[in-house]
Amino acid sequence: MHLAVAARTDVGRVRKGNEDSLHASANEYRGLFIVADGMGGHAAGEVASEMSVDIVSHDLSDLNDLDAPDAHARVARALRDANRAVYERTRTERDKLGMGSTVSALLLSEDRYIVGHVGDSRIYIVRDGQMHQLTKDHSLVQEQVDAGLLTPEQARRHPQSNVITRCVGMADDIEPDVFSGDVRIGDTFLLASDGLTGMIDDRRIQQLLLSRAKPERIVDALIQEANMNGGNDNITAVVVRVLAPGATPTDRDVTPIPPARTHG
Ligand code: CA
Repeated sequence: MHLAVAARTDVGRVRKGNEDSLHASANEYRGLFIVADGMGGHAAGEVASEMSVDIVSHDLSDLNDLDAPDAHARVARALRDANRAVYERTRTERDKLGMGSTVSALLLSEDRYIVGHVGDSRIYIVRDGQMHQLTKDHSLVQEQVDAGLLTPEQARRHPQSNVITRCVGMADDIEPDVFSGDVRIGDTFLLASDGLTGMIDDRRIQQLLLSRAKPERIVDALIQEANMNGGNDNITAVVVRVLAPGATPTDRDVTPIPPARTHG
């Protein structure tokens, strides 16, 4: 796999702790990337997101053939395993009551990706100059967008925008979304927690992802801009670019990050 990858999480400007967790790894067959955004008092959110990332990455560590007949089932099982472990602790440990986590996981080979998803962290793809959100938020406001009651922009600014309807740890079993698609050279993927997507609108995210800057610089710009816009929540961004076989990212790829608009 020839990938250029950058992954970073930032506490933001308001929260004292960081409840987001991430994973980024790759072997010769495939890359594995995970963002998890935890919730729950007494640092339980940090525990939930870390457990989720540990369990899912461990379960999928030997899934190398994304075309295998059981690949989708294995991704679903990994998220369900994480759910069971987190849910069990919410039942047995008093200070873990109500703890949970989103999980958005991306497996990436040279010709195929598989997504496993629960909650409102997001995975986007940029291809042919256009950005598309691959995951669908499991959230109250998304349900209202689906019903035609809110626009996506109204949903983003809605006071209940952080209420999620499905997550790891919520019930004794969960139904994760699992789906796959084809991968092309030049595709760029973004995994992000809502501390990023809630602070920067999609048009600006697309503008940054479309720049030919290295993933490190794009991740830095995304996090810096989310903080400039308030940094109300923990911010996590993972950017993965699929390179041609044999290619390595060089400084020739680098063009300036487009300047941010002024926020009033
Ligand atoms: Ca969050």
